[in-house]
Amino acid sequence: MSVPEPRRLLTAELLSIGTELTVGDTRDTNAGELARSLTGMGVRVVRITALPDDLGEVTTAYGDGLRRSDLVVSTGGLGPTPDDLAREAIAQVFSETPTVDPELEVGLRELWTRRGLPFPELNLKQAWLIPSAVTLPNPNGTAPGWYATRPDGRIVVALPGPPREMRPMWSDEVVPRLQARDLGAKVASRTYRLAGIGESQVAELLGPTMLRATNPIVATYARVEAVDVRISAIAEGGRSADELVEAAAAVVLGHVGTYVWATGETSWSQAIGARLADLGWTLASVEIGTGGSVNALFGDAPWVRFGASISPDAPAAMADQMATDIEELEGEEVPDDLARSAQRARELGGAEVGLAVRARPRTGDTAVSIAISTPDGAHRARRVVFLTGPMGRSRAALAAAAVLLETLRRAGPTG
Ligand code: AMP
Ligand code: MG
Repeated sequence: MSVPEPRRLLTAELLSIGTELTVGDTRDTNAGELARSLTGMGVRVVRITALPDDLGEVTTAYGDGLRRSDLVVSTGGLGPTPDDLAREAIAQVFSETPTVDPELEVGLRELWTRRGLPFPELNLKQAWLIPSAVTLPNPNGTAPGWYATRPDGRIVVALPGPPREMRPMWSDEVVPRLQARDLGAKVASRTYRLAGIGESQVAELLGPTMLRATNPIVATYARVEAVDVRISAIAEGGRSADELVEAAAAVVLGHVGTYVWATGETSWSQAIGARLADLGWTLASVEIGTGGSVNALFGDAPWVRFGASISPDAPAAMADQMATDIEELEGEEVPDDLARSAQRARELGGAEVGLAVRARPRTGDTAVSIAISTPDGAHRARRVVFLTGPMGRSRAALAAAAVLLETLRRAGPTG
């Protein structure tokens, strides 16, 4: 055997093998988990493929993968039955003939002797090995994995399909072996969370050139609680990954900076909680017609003093009651119902900030009224959010959270 050359492992492809995947009986969770792990180690996953238990398809996939990428990782196809063909396929691609490894055979037979069962000769396949591969022990099953190295340093890893077998083999056996090689590139990344703007509008502002570039990569994600703009880069052309991210971030902020409310994976509750902590303030809220979605958003945050949800069918009476005695507190100002509710919530909750939100369906969308009462005064905003029903109600809460955070950031001595 020739000694494998060290080769930097920068790109990878993932194969998910099994007809249960291509007929839709089993969801492929393995590839996503492996992709996340590899990406975190600075390896670019360039393709994920699901394949039926077909020797031709699987062999072609390993071959193509090895031509394109430094690393091919497969899951599935390592079972004992004739339809599990990963070993046969890898052997073909390596032009090697599998033989039964005596040591593996002893270990395998032992698993059955231990339980006093006859050894099914079909299982002998799981003791196969080719000269270019070493086996990866599987403490949770009978199928060992394969770690095969080509003379040019490219690698094929074959793991069993069941996630609880695959996962520990990946982290305990494969990752350390890969890390002993020159693995991945240093990746830098940053995520900006945006509100008050749709994903397509963000994409339009950033422009196709930026969104199609491969380094740095700038990508937009429409998530429930935000539109995220994620910037990631690897070192290139004498510039570090951090420098490339920094430069792209400046451009991104130039286009959409005014919509940014947080970075990373910060939630609304965390962002609002952090600002309230800065101010030393707490919150009390009342929501009408939102089905409690404001409360759901803030959850059981320690800074919530009071959170009431009022049915849209009972607002007049409730709002009246909420507003009792408020006029006196207000002095000359005559605030509207919702502003009074905000103030009343503040009073009832003994909080520095009162928030009142009212959502009403309007021509297919949801009109949201927001009133906020703080030691700095009263604040009022209106928004229209997309759709009605549960979607509209949860978006109403997000709109209220955005107005609240904006108000809090302007409020107080450091605002
Ligand atoms: P195997 O015998 O190694 O082909 O895998 C057998 C079992 O592992 C399948 O019946 C599935 O339950 C599970 N499995 C295989 N591939 C995947 C995958 N990509 N994601 C999640 N589970 C899988
Ligand atoms: Mg299978």
